[in-house]
Amino acid sequence: MLSTSTKPLSDSGLRDRFHRRSLEHQRPLSTVTLAFTVVAFLCLVGARNMVNGPATPLAYRLSCALVLALLVMAIPRTSSTWTFGAIGVAYSLVLVAGLALNVSGVEHPLLWVLPAMVAIPICAAPLWLTPMHFFVGSALFYAAAFATLFGAPRTHDVDVVVWMWIVAIGVPTSAVFHFGFYRFRRNQFLLESQLAQLAATDPLTGLQNRRAFVKQAERRLEVIAPDERVSAIFLDIDSFKSLNDRFGHAVGDHALYEVAQVLMEGTSADDSVSRIGGEEFAVLLRDGLAGALALAERLRSAIAAIERPDGHLTASFGVAEHRSGESIMVLLDRADEALLRAKHSGRNRVCAERALPLELLQFDADAAYEEGGAAERRHRWEDYYLTSHFQPLYSLSHQKQVGFEALLRGEQDDGTLVPPVVLFAPRPSSDEGALDRASHAVHLANARKLLPGDAWLFLNILPATFIAEGYADRLAAIVRAVGLEPEQVILEILESHGGSVDDMSRAAALYREHGFLIAVDDFGAGQSNLDRLLRIRPDLVKLDGELIRATSHGTEQPILPKLVSLLHQAGMLVVVEGVETTEELILAVESNVDFAQGYLLGRPAAEIAPPESAHQRIDDAFDVIAQGRARQHALFESEVEPYRSALSRAADDLLAGVLMEQAFAALATLERCVSCFILNDSGRQIGNELRGPAWNGEAASLQPVANPQYARWDHRPYFRNAVLFPGVAVASNPYLSLASGRPCVAVTLAVQFATERAVVGVELDWSAVGLPWPAGD
Ligand code: GH3
Ligand code: MG
Ligand code: MG
Repeated sequence: MLSTSTKPLSDSGLRDRFHRRSLEHQRPLSTVTLAFTVVAFLCLVGARNMVNGPATPLAYRLSCALVLALLVMAIPRTSSTWTFGAIGVAYSLVLVAGLALNVSGVEHPLLWVLPAMVAIPICAAPLWLTPMHFFVGSALFYAAAFATLFGAPRTHDVDVVVWMWIVAIGVPTSAVFHFGFYRFRRNQFLLESQLAQLAATDPLTGLQNRRAFVKQAERRLEVIAPDERVSAIFLDIDSFKSLNDRFGHAVGDHALYEVAQVLMEGTSADDSVSRIGGEEFAVLLRDGLAGALALAERLRSAIAAIERPDGHLTASFGVAEHRSGESIMVLLDRADEALLRAKHSGRNRVCAERALPLELLQFDADAAYEEGGAAERRHRWEDYYLTSHFQPLYSLSHQKQVGFEALLRGEQDDGTLVPPVVLFAPRPSSDEGALDRASHAVHLANARKLLPGDAWLFLNILPATFIAEGYADRLAAIVRAVGLEPEQVILEILESHGGSVDDMSRAAALYREHGFLIAVDDFGAGQSNLDRLLRIRPDLVKLDGELIRATSHGTEQPILPKLVSLLHQAGMLVVVEGVETTEELILAVESNVDFAQGYLLGRPAAEIAPPESAHQRIDDAFDVIAQGRARQHALFESEVEPYRSALSRAADDLLAGVLMEQAFAALATLERCVSCFILNDSGRQIGNELRGPAWNGEAASLQPVANPQYARWDHRPYFRNAVLFPGVAVASNPYLSLASGRPCVAVTLAVQFATERAVVGVELDWSAVGLPWPAGD
């Protein structure tokens, strides 16, 4: 815990910090000064070589320079102040020895070393970290100097004078330098630490302030070990405003001080305690949720014993345990959420964060496995229990249950269901994500007990939860903890709830790495759109039930088949939800949907229903479709037949040389005829078309494409099919005509004239409701 009073330098912790700080300050200066001294020493070696007479071998003197250089190189690597001092002492002794070796044999050795012997102690004085280093270093320097140089015969008066100068100038000047610099550094350090302390402390209570607390907590969470547990307690004094308002701010201030004292006394030196702001405090402690709850409870009763003029002080507490990778701000937010619940549920109480502890679920799952599924399937949540219901999904082609969507239910003590409006009601204090996360843990634990081993589990997930940092790892851990594999789980993102598409596609990649499959739920409802789908690239798309019933404008033809074919082309499997009637099931099968889900196939239930009845239903739907296809085909053929024969006759007339208008005259009077036309071999129209009764001259919106004169039609299936079967009148599937803007069917026939091949045809208006549409492309 951060101290409240200013500490003198006699405090060993503070002194240590000062010395370490000094070391960092002195290091560059010392390195440069001592490096220069090595250079000066080499100059002396050079000068000595210019003097005649017997000298110590050069190699000895140079090796002194080498040792000095090595000592200089060691300075940047030292982290201990003692090593730093020892380098200083070693350096001065080697230097003295080097000087003695250099000057031996000269006539006036003391004159040679005079500048060095005066300058070196003075230059070194500010660099010694502490007075102790200074005393020891200087004493050894002079002792070595006397031992090596004093032995020289003092043949002249000048030698005595030189010794006098060395001692009389060197010693006092270096002492003044050392102590002057040392005091300056120490005062600077004390001032800085006082300022830092003031900036980190709340003046009223002496506790850490918010900034210091957050900074310290961040550092602590950065180095947290994987098995280490840390929790946060957030507390807020109850009805504090009334204390201020009724008895004055001084009384309020005193109450804050007393609460701070309780917090300091009730926590250990290892815990951080802070006044976060106003009458809110936080504690960060090295313990799990259970330990933190117990501490919060002790603090709560200690605060409740503090008197205020109108009774006793109380405070409300929220407690949360740190989750791997989570920042201190997120941890405090979760504790704050619990604190709000403590306030809402009556104050003077401790509330824990809401997520279900994983250990609890894991324990349940293991127990269920051993006891054959007898264990409790519900989990306490606020005033009721959470439990799972499962709804089956069928593969239509396989006619088989392939998975189950887990749906969250709330139960009272007696087993009656809590209505969804209550269960999912937004509450001021609640975080929607907590219920979402809890639901995943509950469903996974239950799925392991109830679901067949080869079935997928579909889990709904809110976009906010889906993109939450670290949730992919956490969910994978829960999945494995209950004995399942991520490959068995399909995450249904509730697309209608929005969310940034970039975040979603990034998050999807993380879940895929673990093996999860991704589905987009409710496509066609809310904010869903095709662009989002193509960027998130889910493995499955669940189509909103409403899309089954959606039909194209005018013809009442369902749009589902085209939508499914589009999604298949984009590489996504398709699920339809909300299949309630046999007609919807038939449409789903006919539209080539992969999986279906709905009341017709199975309702959500606490138990898994046997799949037999649904198999029969799907089988029947296939039969109905097979029969329906044949019937539709027959109806279509009979509807088109008059046009086929009239076209064949017109073609015969044209071959016999009859003019176009006469040849087409009978065909152009038939009811659905929009126009009759002749296309040349490259699909361009020859002459004008002959209009029939169904021609719609008012299709003004399509005017720009109404004139077919220069258009080419050889890409259209009706042209290609006619060419493939020359002499046969072929009918196309319904298509949207550019000329009329309405669904049309074309009947065409390829004819070989003397000079070239042509396709004669008639376009029929197919927009009337009730006309048969042939199945397939
Ligand atoms: P609740 O039980 O919901 O927490 O109600 P409350 O009255 O405690 O909460 P509210 O947030 O309305 O009031 C907090 C008060 O704390 C308002 C503010 O005047 C007072 N306060 C904030 N800082 C200080 C301070 O340093 N000294 C004093 N005396 N009062 C402070
Ligand atoms: Mg308050
Ligand atoms: Mg408050």
